[in-house]
Amino acid sequence: MSSAYLQCIEPHCQSRFPASSRIYTCERCDGLLDVAYEPSALSPEHLKILWANRRASAKAADQSGVWRFRELLPEADESQIVTMIEGNTQIFEAPRSAEFAGISRLTFKHLGMNPTGSFKDLGMTTGVTQARRLGAESVACASTGNTSASMAAYAARAGMRAFVFVPAGQIALGKLSQALDYGATVLQLEGDFDDAMRLVREVTREADLYLLNSVNPFRLEGQKTIAFEMLQQRSWRVPDRVVVPGGNLGNSSAIAKGLKELFDLGVIPRLPQLTIVQAEGADPLYRLWKAEAAALEPVPGATTLATAIKIGNPVSWKKALRGLRWSGGSVEEVSEQEIADAKAIIGLDGIGCEPASAVTLAGVKKMVAAGSLNPDEDVVAVLTGHVLKDPDYTVNYHRGSLSYVDASGAKVQITPHHANRLVQVPAEAQAILSALKM
Ligand SMILES: *Cc1c(COP(=O)(O)O)cnc(C)c1O
Ligand SMILES: [Zn+2]
Repeated sequence: MSSAYLQCIEPHCQSRFPASSRIYTCERCDGLLDVAYEPSALSPEHLKILWANRRASAKAADQSGVWRFRELLPEADESQIVTMIEGNTQIFEAPRSAEFAGISRLTFKHLGMNPTGSFKDLGMTTGVTQARRLGAESVACASTGNTSASMAAYAARAGMRAFVFVPAGQIALGKLSQALDYGATVLQLEGDFDDAMRLVREVTREADLYLLNSVNPFRLEGQKTIAFEMLQQRSWRVPDRVVVPGGNLGNSSAIAKGLKELFDLGVIPRLPQLTIVQAEGADPLYRLWKAEAAALEPVPGATTLATAIKIGNPVSWKKALRGLRWSGGSVEEVSEQEIADAKAIIGLDGIGCEPASAVTLAGVKKMVAAGSLNPDEDVVAVLTGHVLKDPDYTVNYHRGSLSYVDASGAKVQITPHHANRLVQVPAEAQAILSALKM
């Protein structure tokens, strides 16, 4: 689509800027920006056929689960597109998880199956492509881990330098190892993610670095294709509800935008309800929602073992709120214990995910129990990251040694209700045979 521009989301402002502006927020009011498009006469039937046919194409831009939908993306010349054939991730039936949650059927859209193991790849293909179109040579982000892993990979593919700002000692080792492997310069900051975010925004105003956090609306354009691909895989059958983890709230905002665009174009007849789930120790959107407050109150010193959503001051909260209003959505929060047990159950479905993703199942279970989710609903839960991102968490859970420090500073032990214990045996056949009878 050629006719993209940037538009401030603040209702009183709505200023427009050219898509080629190297800005991240509104120049008039500092509001968040959307990538918006001039109206066009795209026929839903034509689009569905075009997108279906591309799945059989040999061209990278057609095979990508993002660029396949390029009629609804900012224009990019095919030679400029930086793609790793992201997307094309599975939707799994999850009977054990459904039973655990008390719901008749549950499906997972597993975005951890992307090239670097998280949905961040869907935003980086569009974000790094935009960086290339703007002539940027260096890119930067603050990260709880997956953004840095993904940006490092896409920057390497594009021949750009990558600078990542991470909170020291607070990111899962799998993610840190990726950023190092893909050649990024990793700056460990003595602070939390919210500090890193504030500082990278400050530094990118001064230095010649293109910012690739989800405040950058070109990231979210790639991530909105989660909605497109999910619906395409379901033959455009709209689920009743889509459940998404909420950290910085870029992804839930992007999915909401994608769904809204399909609805506005007439590709789908109705919007599924959006449910955003946060961890109790990092729950500013949940608090806002419960209090029906007008503005988000940051949670200083946010805590959760689900490090990907350990964020107290989410950048995209206004977009997330807008998305919730579009669909009559809701916000839920879950405890560390609930997250850990839910993650173990997702593992038993043979799928696995990282802790932040498991808030979806924990949230569904909690909502079924509270009567706010009907057990007959058709629910798609979005798993955001791969199980191998954070193996320490998984092994510690099954060993019974997973613990966290709560807001008051007290150490709390997780009880592994679904532990799969290691079996210790002497190295001799008889001992092994008797162990197998257990
Ligand atoms: C980034 C991330 C999230 C949070 O997404 P936001 O857009 O920050 O809300 C959740 N899970 C995983 C695995 C992530 O990498
Ligand atoms: Zn504005």
